[in-house]
Amino acid sequence: MDHFPIFLSLKGQKVVLVGGGDLAARKLRLLRKADAAVTVIAPSLCPEIEELVAQAEIDHVGRKFLNDDVTGASLVFAATDIEEIDAAVAQAARAQGIKVNAVDRPELSDFIMPAIVDRSPIVIGISSGGSAPILARNLREKIEGMLPPALGRLASFADSFRGAVKGTISSGNERRKFWENFFDGPIAESVLSGREVSARENMLGLINRNWKQENADGHVAIVGAGPGDPDLLTFRAMRFMQQADVVVYDRLISDEILDYVRRDADRIYVGKAPGQHSHSQDEINDILVREARKGLRVVRLKGGDPFVFGRGGEEMDVLQSAGIEVDVVPGITAAVGCAAASGIPLTHRKHASMVTFVTGQAGDDMTAADWSGLVNSRQTLVFYMGLKNAGQISDRLIKHGQDPKTPIAIIENGTRVDQRVLPGQLFEAAEMVQRHQVTGPSLIVVGSVAAYADRSDLQQITNAALENKNTASFLNEVAVAAQ
Ligand code: SAH
Repeated sequence: MDHFPIFLSLKGQKVVLVGGGDLAARKLRLLRKADAAVTVIAPSLCPEIEELVAQAEIDHVGRKFLNDDVTGASLVFAATDIEEIDAAVAQAARAQGIKVNAVDRPELSDFIMPAIVDRSPIVIGISSGGSAPILARNLREKIEGMLPPALGRLASFADSFRGAVKGTISSGNERRKFWENFFDGPIAESVLSGREVSARENMLGLINRNWKQENADGHVAIVGAGPGDPDLLTFRAMRFMQQADVVVYDRLISDEILDYVRRDADRIYVGKAPGQHSHSQDEINDILVREARKGLRVVRLKGGDPFVFGRGGEEMDVLQSAGIEVDVVPGITAAVGCAAASGIPLTHRKHASMVTFVTGQAGDDMTAADWSGLVNSRQTLVFYMGLKNAGQISDRLIKHGQDPKTPIAIIENGTRVDQRVLPGQLFEAAEMVQRHQVTGPSLIVVGSVAAYADRSDLQQITNAALENKNTASFLNEVAVAAQ
């Protein structure tokens, strides 16, 4: 280890920062987070630092650096971007035994600054010892992505109960178990999800009860898993999936997504396998209540978003009336995922000022008024579960006045590796389903934005060019066609 990692308390400590430009401003932001008493030495200042001086947030000495400027400082930063001055600052600091950092000059520095992930009071510093700063930054981005934004709030929350827990649970070993349970449990999850008031009430209840029974009530998270690509899962969905004792999932959940569920979790499949009995909604509700009553953390994993044609509302009602705590985690609904993956904007200033999600299964229940409400040249319609009724959908829309030549796109297995985007026109919807043998989960998008799916000219040129031509002329033709 070339550098020894420590976390310094700088609260109220004098720190001298030499330099008034952007480099100095960047260091100053961090130093202010640590509540240091900063003195900036520089003949001129960038607007950001000037503003802080005007607000009397920091001291400023408006001239060039002199050796005595470092006297009394706990730390010194040289951030002038001029080598001779930085070197003079480093020398003056060392002469007085004060640790110094010259920005971007490891050879002049006693200490270096790590890449930082700040979820105060949790702070993570990452250093490559100056050998690979980009790698350190890269790692920081990965860690940033892994940690819930509210992690700091969770740490402060726990801290505010430390005394109470110590007063109630005397054995150190038991206290450790308490906190292990807590950080993994539903109260911590409530804090992370922003429900701190109820978390506080539950925490008081927990400390005053027998805390070992915290999970006795069980909990269900109704989680939207998005349209298929695991990359589209939310952080919150991931968190619940990785804490689950049981996962109850249906047909639209791919294996790739199930891979993210905690390995030890039991899996209950409630979708319909070909030719087999499918679970009724009542049976699924019973399973959820039964598993939660065992005191387990249940994840009800659903394709897309649980509240968009997902029957998540019914499950939530049943669980709540059974007195079971429920969280609902939104997911990317098929329409939104497929739109992005196929390059079809659902609204567009030139084409559509509304978008409506319609179930294609309700075909028979819908009245003439419902259908005429859907006919509008500046509206995008997205039909879910519409494959079987594709003919009926197009007939009725046309009957109520929609132009038979309205562009449509059928998107099958959207966002998955086997996605197909089939462009066409409204009158031929049923025929397209037949011709292309569309059988996977699919959406039918109706409206002029669907024309964005028609890249067949581009496709043809690409194919022809690939067969006949060299790379340069191929790329050229594709570029021209794409314009
Ligand atoms: N709750 C889900 C919808 C469930 S209904 C959501 O918000 O997306 C099931 C229907 O969703 C399917 O019949 C199909 O129309 C659509 N669907 C789900 N996943 C899809 C995908 N990857 N590509 C295209 N359509 C999809």
